[in-house]
Amino acid sequence: MAEKNYIALRIEGMTCDGCARHVTEALKAVPGVEDAQVGSWKSGQATIVAEAGVKEAELTEAVKKSGYRAILREKRPLECERRVPSRNGAEYDLMTIGGGSAAFAAAIKAAELGAKVAIVEKGTIGGTCVNIGCVPSKTLIKAAEVCYHSAYPNFEGLTACPPPSDWQRVVEQKNDLVAALREGKYVNVAEMYPNITIIRGEAKLLGGRKIAVDGKTYTPGKILVATGSHNWAPPISGLEEAGYIDSTLALDLKELPESLIIIGGGAIGLEFAQLFARFGVRVMILEAGPRVAMAEEPEIGEAIVKYLEGEKVRVCANVKIKKVERADGEVRVHTEMNGVREICTAKQLMVATGRRANSAGFGLEEAGVKLGKKGEILVNEHLQTDNSDIYAAGDCIGDPMYVYVAAYAGGLAVENALNGAGKVYDLFALPRVTFTDPQIASVGLMEAEAKAKGLQVDTSVLDLKNVPRALASRDTRGLIKLVAEKETGRLLGAHVLAADAGEVIQEATLAIRFGLTVQDLVETFHPYLTMVEGIKLAALTFKKDVAKLSCCAA
Ligand SMILES: Cc1cc2nc3c(=O)[nH]c(=O)nc-3n(C[C@H](O)[C@H](O)[C@H](O)COP(=O)(O)OP(=O)(O)OC[C@H]3O[C@@H](n4cnc5c(N)ncnc54)[C@H](O)[C@@H]3O)c2cc1C
Repeated sequence: MAEKNYIALRIEGMTCDGCARHVTEALKAVPGVEDAQVGSWKSGQATIVAEAGVKEAELTEAVKKSGYRAILREKRPLECERRVPSRNGAEYDLMTIGGGSAAFAAAIKAAELGAKVAIVEKGTIGGTCVNIGCVPSKTLIKAAEVCYHSAYPNFEGLTACPPPSDWQRVVEQKNDLVAALREGKYVNVAEMYPNITIIRGEAKLLGGRKIAVDGKTYTPGKILVATGSHNWAPPISGLEEAGYIDSTLALDLKELPESLIIIGGGAIGLEFAQLFARFGVRVMILEAGPRVAMAEEPEIGEAIVKYLEGEKVRVCANVKIKKVERADGEVRVHTEMNGVREICTAKQLMVATGRRANSAGFGLEEAGVKLGKKGEILVNEHLQTDNSDIYAAGDCIGDPMYVYVAAYAGGLAVENALNGAGKVYDLFALPRVTFTDPQIASVGLMEAEAKAKGLQVDTSVLDLKNVPRALASRDTRGLIKLVAEKETGRLLGAHVLAADAGEVIQEATLAIRFGLTVQDLVETFHPYLTMVEGIKLAALTFKKDVAKLSCCAA
């Protein structure tokens, strides 16, 4: 019997059932295709059964010729035996280098597939997220928020800073939470899987499939590199000599500085600026780009500046830093802002200018693994490196660096490595959240991005003063911006600045993922007095003035 492949494609540009028929016919006409199905145009998915010789390029080209775009999502042998290949005498089917989120997701998936796995970790088990990332930063942010909002129960018209709080106690509570989650979600979880072994030590690749850990050599079936990333600082004259803190050190300060300059106005810079300001620190942000929150819609970037300034944070954009020096117990940052020179001073300096992959010093290049310009590990769409036995996942393959992306990548890489599943790393409809207050959450395309792709779009911008939940909570800070395809009304992007925007964004994520339209959002029930009702109101705003609607907008 001839070998056959199962292939899944994401199809973009379909606007009606007729489009789905055209795509189906175009795919079925490719020689060697036995069956092709497109569920509905909204699903944006095509599944194909084809002879093994049919190349994905033939399929994507056929879709293109019929007027649509196709992106490969999965390709694997149809009767792919879901069984781990023989270990050939190797001690482990899989070894991960690193014991963070990507590695744990990978190890659990491998164990579920029946494989024997070793996680090699040189530092603290659990990696960045639980120890020095998401968990500690978000619990400190929440503490600052509680302290701030209890000082100012009615958030509108904020003018002053809250009194300083017991920072040391807050840090201790943060450390307790981190220890509990590390134990509960990593150490104990690993113990629940008899097939998973944790090896403490630094792994070094020796070429081929060989790994050395503290003098012992292993030759596992496959290797997953999941070594994470580190804080990165740009080359600024005097920076290293003057000394600075990064996000890791900021989470563990013994005492709060009286004043703080933060270089970098991205997600981490903004979160820490507000966190420290709320604990009574005088904070200033220096951003090289034309505005902070560059990854977000301009309306949102402008609004968050307004709210931060309302909390006495000084936000400066278009800043060129000439040099940094430390003297008389303070740090001096020599800047040029919009052509004007200014020396900014503070007791402490924090650098929040992004993270870079951990890819140096453990033999990657010797093992035939190629690196990109910023040191990120280069992988193909199946997360396989140039060494066919080595896969990579998580922060070490570069942006976007989020824990849910790392975990997804770890699981997918293992299915491909051990089962030949042929799954494609696909970040379509990826939401992101910046945990300021109000939060910034986005998914899909910004207006400018959609236009740059040649799409005709409509947008709606809804001020939260129109959202009953915001009024009832007496917190109308924020807005919701939706971007939709003009012709079809298909939702392309959603951008939310609101308390709990991180929760609200999930509706838009599903809508974009499954090709829903603005009208679908309007016709869906939304419970009254919830923030997510704002999505429906923003959808209504495309055609109506929501100020003229009664409470339960119809
Ligand atoms: C301050 C901060 C806040 C964040 N907040 C969020 C958030 O709110 N939401 C979100 O989704 N993401 C957030 N992130 C990002 C998130 O933490 C990371 O994307 C995620 O933890 C990366 O997981 P990983 O498995 O790729 O790497 P890591 O978790 O960093 O794991 C890599 C591990 O590899 C080990 N290692 C490295 N080299 C070797 C070697 N040679 N041998 C053995 N072990 C080795 C390291 O010690 C480390 O433990 C935040 C990050 C930071 C810094």
